[in-house]
Amino acid sequence: MSAQQILKVFVTRRIPQEGMKILQKAGLCNLSVWDSDEPVPRAELLKGVAGAHGILCLLSDKIDTEVLDAAGPNLKVISTLSVGFDHLAIDEIKKRGIRVGYTPDVLTDATAELTVALLLATARRLPEGVEEVKNGGWSTWKPLWLCGYGLSGSTVGVIGLGRIGLAIARRLKPFGVKRLLYTGRQSKPQAQEVDGEYVPLDTLVSESDFVVVSCSLTPDTQGLCDKTFFSKMKKTSIFINTSRGAVVNQEDLFEALSSGQIAAAGLDVTTPEPLPTAHPLLTLKNCVVLPHIGSATYSTRGVMSELTANNLLAGLTGSEMPSELKM
Ligand code: NDP
Repeated sequence: MSAQQILKVFVTRRIPQEGMKILQKAGLCNLSVWDSDEPVPRAELLKGVAGAHGILCLLSDKIDTEVLDAAGPNLKVISTLSVGFDHLAIDEIKKRGIRVGYTPDVLTDATAELTVALLLATARRLPEGVEEVKNGGWSTWKPLWLCGYGLSGSTVGVIGLGRIGLAIARRLKPFGVKRLLYTGRQSKPQAQEVDGEYVPLDTLVSESDFVVVSCSLTPDTQGLCDKTFFSKMKKTSIFINTSRGAVVNQEDLFEALSSGQIAAAGLDVTTPEPLPTAHPLLTLKNCVVLPHIGSATYSTRGVMSELTANNLLAGLTGSEMPSELKM
């Protein structure tokens, strides 16, 4: 056995075959895979990473100090099958000199498409309509039945005009959006492409007909969408979140939706995931909840898997990663 072949890698889930083929073909490492579609239990994760040189993980795996300690000093690289990295203890990982690979860009189009689909489904009440057809609630054509809100002539506000935020804005503009507002830590030259106006958060929240959250989850954005935030939104406005659940205070969102403070919400991400089936948000007709499927197209997940594998291999061999997180 060569020195290279004893590199140990723990893969925390069954991943699309595109990535597994790359890892197997490289012949660089002993692969240990949690061969399931369900998340690895914490105890198995801690056991599985022991002595590992590389970890290939998912956003559902919390990689914190305990996991890093369990892995020990061999650990050189963590490659996550996601663009979000809020599940990784970045400060601690950086301190230990461990490199991180992630999957920006390759999921941008799929996530932006899903966001537009969720926005339209929420604003035009598609799940309610489908339900009414099935349950006999469709009696006849009625002038005000199942009316919603349209994008034409509207103001859309994007919180976090990053890769995905810009891709959402590009897709929404052709629907006849009149004003495209955005907020973030700084104005963006690329916003010109969508005639984006950089505005303070308060302005965005109070003037938008559609508020779309596409920022990353950080200590600054955690709980950003709370009671005060929703109280500033128009009563006719729609709230969409495809970033991370923890950006939203869900109790405050429930209150805003049930009291008529805002018109409707569409969420692809929640806290926790999965959202318990008895959760109050699921009792509301004006709340559309999807099971975190932003990047879920076959091709996108295949490319994400390839990129995650290639990042991992580059981290193991000390070469340039296709997508390394700058920490
Ligand atoms: P980017 O890094 O390109 O964009 C992140 C954006 O967040 C930036 O524009 C940044 O603004 C903004 N941001 C950071 N801090 C703040 C803040 N305090 N207030 C407002 N905006 C802020 O990442 P992506 O566009 O590629 O991905 C964004 C997020 O989308 C991911 O982190 C992930 O959580 C989520 N995601 C969800 C998916 C799903 O399935 N639903 C799929 C893929 C991603 P600035 O540049 O000014 O700092």
